[in-house]
Amino acid sequence: MNTYEFTCPDCRRAIPVTDPMREATLSSGCPVCGRSVSGEHFAV
Ligand SMILES: [Zn+2]
Repeated sequence: MNTYEFTCPDCRRAIPVTDPMREATLSSGCPVCGRSVSGEHFAV
């Protein structure tokens, strides 16, 4: 399974995420602050 590093552009938290977590974050926003995010905020 692929993992990505999500970095929130708002709260600056960097969180390692798996594919399902990436999808959930894209639909629900940052798990820390709730900001909506897009694919550009995920690094492989
Ligand atoms: Zn955030």
